[in-house]
Amino acid sequence: MNLLYKSTRNSEKKVTASEAILKGLAEDGGLFVPEQIPTLDVTMEELKNMTYQETAYAVMKQFLTDFTEEELKHCIDSAYDSKFDTEVIAPLVKVGDVYHLELFHGATIAFKDMALSILPHLMTTSAKKNHVTKDIVILTATSGDTGKAAMAGFADVPGTKIIVFYPKNGVSRVQEMQMVTQKGANTSVVAIHGNFDNAQSGVKALFEDQVLAKELDAAGYQFSSANSINIGRLVPQVVYYVYAYAKLLQNDEIQSGEKINVTVPTGNFGNILAAYYAKQMGVPINKLICASNENKVLFDFFRTGTYDKNREFVLTSSPSMDILISSNLERLIYTIAGQDGQKNAELMDALKSSGAYEITKEMKAKLDDFVGGYATEEQTAQAIHDTYKRTGYVMDTHTAVASCVCAQYREESGDETKCLIASTASPYKFVGSVMRAIDAEYAGRDEFELVDELEKLSQVAVPNAVKEIRDAKILHTRECDADKMKETVKEILEIEV
Ligand SMILES: *Cc1c(COP(=O)(O)O)cnc(C)c1O
Repeated sequence: MNLLYKSTRNSEKKVTASEAILKGLAEDGGLFVPEQIPTLDVTMEELKNMTYQETAYAVMKQFLTDFTEEELKHCIDSAYDSKFDTEVIAPLVKVGDVYHLELFHGATIAFKDMALSILPHLMTTSAKKNHVTKDIVILTATSGDTGKAAMAGFADVPGTKIIVFYPKNGVSRVQEMQMVTQKGANTSVVAIHGNFDNAQSGVKALFEDQVLAKELDAAGYQFSSANSINIGRLVPQVVYYVYAYAKLLQNDEIQSGEKINVTVPTGNFGNILAAYYAKQMGVPINKLICASNENKVLFDFFRTGTYDKNREFVLTSSPSMDILISSNLERLIYTIAGQDGQKNAELMDALKSSGAYEITKEMKAKLDDFVGGYATEEQTAQAIHDTYKRTGYVMDTHTAVASCVCAQYREESGDETKCLIASTASPYKFVGSVMRAIDAEYAGRDEFELVDELEKLSQVAVPNAVKEIRDAKILHTRECDADKMKETVKEILEIEV
């Protein structure tokens, strides 16, 4: 069966998977969604014995139906190889009475590697399939992790350039060093004077700018996106929820058909949406627990049905979740609006003009699968501290938000369903905050000094991603104001300003 994709703002026009990947965002500003979510066509019994790569093929082939078996397998094998520091790619670790799905064993030690190690291959394959001759310019806004993971994937890939915008004072020291030391003649990094939402809105505006599109075209370029608005990011993320369930089954941690809860530390709503898609494919998932930090727009949304970004933006110790406009939520809104592109477009227009929208009662009733929760900075630090003292396991700040919200939910609801936590970053990436949470004595120390302390304490070897940047040369120093992103892109691409 051939699965087509349509925009969340207009259900008329349909494109193939490879076209959706190439475009990134639909021309009307909407996000591409599959016409329907396919049902898994392999059983859990079969999945139980599959490797990560085999699972990836079983899941992705149902979404990317215009890729041949050879093409898709080539993409998968090129992505999930020795760039990961473990053969199982995404290990499942039991910590106390919950299961952590460690998604940070790739090149840049955050979960973004799970999708961004394959996206460049999906993109270049899609370009070939659609006879694209122009260079693809990947434009990316990052709250810290996407930027590095995308550059690691696209560096020196022929026919591509990548430009990353990150908030100047909104990322950890390790994250910033990872980005500004990135090699590859086709990579550019820009620190913007603003926050992540400014970067993301700016990038979206560039995508929608038809004048710029013409200028790019004349210069031999076309834009695409490596943000999770690209369906090519989302589909590979469905894989690890299927894989995790099958492994829980294989390890006799659950019985066949037993439901599990999944808690996801959430920013742009991509990762948890992938879990929702996995549930729709048939994975026995009960509740999807959406964990926020103090930027708790989503918590308020699930409670009240009103999405309201008009509030103070808080810089937290989990910077990859410091987001007030969760772009992938649009895909869920579209679904609960009964796939009504016009209704969704009205709400998104309201969000753009007034910063808020309210969903109908009928729509809210369809959100039963989700539970929202949030953790304060203090609770997050406490979770890291307590888990370390109790079990010896060291979590990063984002994972700690999820761990905390998962425990709150259990206590408040009495729901004892077994819980999977999406563990999204290595503690080494946020070593300053992590060590301070473990012991206040570490406060104020240099992050790179603390790396060695963390190694002693956690007995987990310092990852290559951190070793590499210790002595690496800074290669990118470009900065710009949030309203000068267009000029900056033209400068980088050497298009007349
Ligand atoms: C990006 C990121 C998140 C948020 O994921 P979304 O898909 O944007 O919701 C959480 N934790 C870490 C470490 C991240 O890099």
